[in-house]
Amino acid sequence: MSQSVDIIVVGAGFAGLRALYTFRELGFTVKVLERDDEIGGVWNFNRYPGARCDVESFDYSYRFSRELEQEWRWSERYAQQPEILEYIRHVADRFDLRRDIELNTSVMRTEFDETASRWTVDSDDGRSWNAKYLILAMGQLSTPKGTVYPGQDDFDGQVIYSAQWPRDGVDYAGKRIAIIGTGSSGVQMTPVIAKTAKHLTVFQRTANYSIPAANAPMSDEEDAAVKANYAERRDQARNSPSGLGFVPDRRSASEVPMDEREEAFEKAWHRLGFGFALVFKDILLDEKSNAIASDFVRRKIAEKVKDPWTREKLTPCKFPFGTRRISVDGGYFEAFNRDNVELVDISETPIESFSKTGIKTTDGIFDFDIVIYATGFDAFTGSLFKPLIMGKDGLTLKEKWANGPVTQLGLAVNGFPNMFIIQGPGSPSLLANVLLSAEDQIDWLATLLTKARDENIDQVEATHQAELDWVDYVNERAKETLYLQTPSFYNGAEMPGKPRVFMPYSGGVRHYRLMMERCAEKGYEGFDLRREPAQAIID
Ligand code: NAP
Repeated sequence: MSQSVDIIVVGAGFAGLRALYTFRELGFTVKVLERDDEIGGVWNFNRYPGARCDVESFDYSYRFSRELEQEWRWSERYAQQPEILEYIRHVADRFDLRRDIELNTSVMRTEFDETASRWTVDSDDGRSWNAKYLILAMGQLSTPKGTVYPGQDDFDGQVIYSAQWPRDGVDYAGKRIAIIGTGSSGVQMTPVIAKTAKHLTVFQRTANYSIPAANAPMSDEEDAAVKANYAERRDQARNSPSGLGFVPDRRSASEVPMDEREEAFEKAWHRLGFGFALVFKDILLDEKSNAIASDFVRRKIAEKVKDPWTREKLTPCKFPFGTRRISVDGGYFEAFNRDNVELVDISETPIESFSKTGIKTTDGIFDFDIVIYATGFDAFTGSLFKPLIMGKDGLTLKEKWANGPVTQLGLAVNGFPNMFIIQGPGSPSLLANVLLSAEDQIDWLATLLTKARDENIDQVEATHQAELDWVDYVNERAKETLYLQTPSFYNGAEMPGKPRVFMPYSGGVRHYRLMMERCAEKGYEGFDLRREPAQAIID
């Protein structure tokens, strides 16, 4: 017997909870299905030491409730994972969201019934739901790659994945630890683990750019100052390209006099974190300007690392600054100055296998008690392809996207009526403040679905032409940037065999929101809104 609601939301992370709150407020019945036994999404899974958000807490938080904004007190400029999870739990309790969330519920299959204009949703434990709308809020980085080297099962020690960190913690003090991977996760955990591990070996394949977080406890004065003008801050964030509130200097980095430029970079280095890439308008657009910024960051890194060999290896040189996700660190490079921390360059001496006692590279065997994989995720599509999602005519989302994702506005897919993806491929997602942009999308969807309810519209479906146009537009915008020069998870290079398609929308959250608004103003151009299946009233 299937339970009937207006909206099924898949995923109880930040976006899923916001969707539940918003649609319930509008009088829709909503059920959120969450595979884990706790809410929080990535902030529930990524419990590794040092995990914290790279976006300032004041901006990486919900904007929908003025009271919540005023009440919640962040303890640090960049909140740590436990505090973010506590915030999410607080929001769920404060707005009584939990009663509509089914935990331990993995969606296995979902299919659109064209005659009834409804989605049926089946979970792994045999339960079923049916809903008019399906909202996929499953995250962009929620499916770990699950890297496995040969011989891993015979390893005597413990193997841990950064995004599946054991709930009861890991006692790494006094132990010999390996970290494989130097993306944001590896960069964040390295200095923390280094402090108490007996020995830490970091296996690096590609050196990464990282900017100091300049994290600090949140003073009462700063807290009060932000809260006195929170609406202004939100507005500024929403109207900045990144959703972080920084509006770049409108000049090209290469045109600014050297002294002035150095001063601007120096200031940004000590304060902006992630926003360093936005000091001048064209750091991510122009090779010459990017080379100047890359050079500055390399110099800064070099100043931090004492040993010449390690310094050279840690200095990123294989791709332009910012064309892979920049890391933001709390003493990553400095950690390599400790006697108990060692770098292994596996681009030169690759890992061959695990041995019983540790890891075997082409250079020899390193013994460990614990090996941590910080090797990343099957980004953007990994989670969306886990359940079988079947639209019209028996077509699955995986089949539809065999050559790469196609969407209208990063939100909807032709052939999958009444289904919406929050921060999916084709939306700003991983190139911006993802929470801010998710809230923009949900607010936009709220207007659309309310209109559909008021006007007795049965099906809302992206047109095929609209998604072709949107994909072209996303590609055109990406060509204006330097992102396409570098293999990364932005373009499917993180997984063997994945189509090489640039996935996020690089035009910024403000422009993206304006595009959504324009679509609505033009009567939801690019969507078919049908009263009866196949009877279009707006094309
Ligand atoms: P990632 O950025 O994809 O980095 C993965 C690392 O593992 C890279 O250094 C990669 O090397 C290496 N690697 C991958 N496969 C490997 C293999 N088979 N053998 C050896 N090394 C391998 O993953 P992540 O660090 O988990 O971060 C992913 C994203 O999550 C971030 O970019 C960010 O968007 C998000 N995140 C955010 C935060 C935050 O806000 N604070 C924190 C953590 C993560 P190559 O570069 O050579 O491929």
